[in-house]
Amino acid sequence: MLKWLLVIAVVVGIYYFFIKKKPMLKAEKPTKKEQSSELVECTVCGTFCSVSEAFIKERRYYCSQECLDA
Ligand SMILES: [Zn+2]
Repeated sequence: MLKWLLVIAVVVGIYYFFIKKKPMLKAEKPTKKEQSSELVECTVCGTFCSVSEAFIKERRYYCSQECLDA
């Protein structure tokens, strides 16, 4: 019985060892976010904002909905 507990403990230990390693590999890949943080100038008021937050219409960037409608 004690032998089985030892085997289970080893299996669980190995299981958690590999589980813990996987999230670290994911954290090392922030490649896509770097591109979206690029700053663009608003066509209407000249305010700089990131591409991910900007409104894009006809290949022009706008900082807000108000500038987009203007
Ligand atoms: Zn603007």
